[in-house]
Amino acid sequence: MDSDTLQVFQSELTCSICMNCFLDPVTIDCGHSFCRPCLSLCWEESQTPRSCPECREIPEWSDFKTNIALKRLASLARQARADHDHSSEEQICVTHQEAKGLFCEADQTLLCGPCSERPEHAAHSHSPIHRAAEESREKLVKRMRTLWKLREEMKISLNQEANKTQSFENYVALRKAMITVQYQRIPLLLHEDEKMHLEALEQEAKEICQQLKGSVFTMTEQAESMRERYRELTEMCHKPDMELLQVRKEDPSSERETVF
Ligand SMILES: [Zn+2]
Ligand SMILES: [Zn+2]
Ligand SMILES: [Zn+2]
Ligand SMILES: [Zn+2]
Repeated sequence: MDSDTLQVFQSELTCSICMNCFLDPVTIDCGHSFCRPCLSLCWEESQTPRSCPECREIPEWSDFKTNIALKRLASLARQARADHDHSSEEQICVTHQEAKGLFCEADQTLLCGPCSERPEHAAHSHSPIHRAAEESREKLVKRMRTLWKLREEMKISLNQEANKTQSFENYVALRKAMITVQYQRIPLLLHEDEKMHLEALEQEAKEICQQLKGSVFTMTEQAESMRERYRELTEMCHKPDMELLQVRKEDPSSERETVF
């Protein structure tokens, strides 16, 4: 592919939110496509109703399927870009003077052909850099989906908890009004009791409210850190092949099976 065609090809497969090649692309009602993570984060942050970031049309659905054709084309575009940039990024094996074109999953290193045939690698699976990077992206995307789902569930519980706090506060206000009304019917002499009664109620209510607010606070923080993790993973996926594989090499936490 000559570089003009490559440019056209790539611009058609560029997400207008992140300006990178599509990652887990979805096509919304108006026909415009975006990376799923970019759209999720963009909608999460906007105060207005969910509309297309390009034409502002409001989609009826929000449960989008991955556009598989676009996803394959985006992978090809990344491959073309990698081939194009290859010379600058390519690493040469000192022993064999050959390009290190294979990625060893087990050792998380790059190898040249002859190196990959050495006995210590006999039991490993080695794949070309681009394929290894795409597989790594695919795994990250899966984890991100789980993470986002957990976050959505967390937001629902958070809303419920916030509602609970609100109804509890309403209930306390009502109880106070009832106590005052009750004491209005009895002799003035007992009004010291009313004060004590109200104070006891207030004290108890304060403790419960603090507990409720504490749990709302913790959940808000958790939802927040889940979103940050999601953003980090999105950025990681958008990195060039070599960098993505190197990130995995340097960051052992990315190998953990858990989502955070
Ligand atoms: Zn994007
Ligand atoms: Zn649109
Ligand atoms: Zn070698
Ligand atoms: Zn190996």
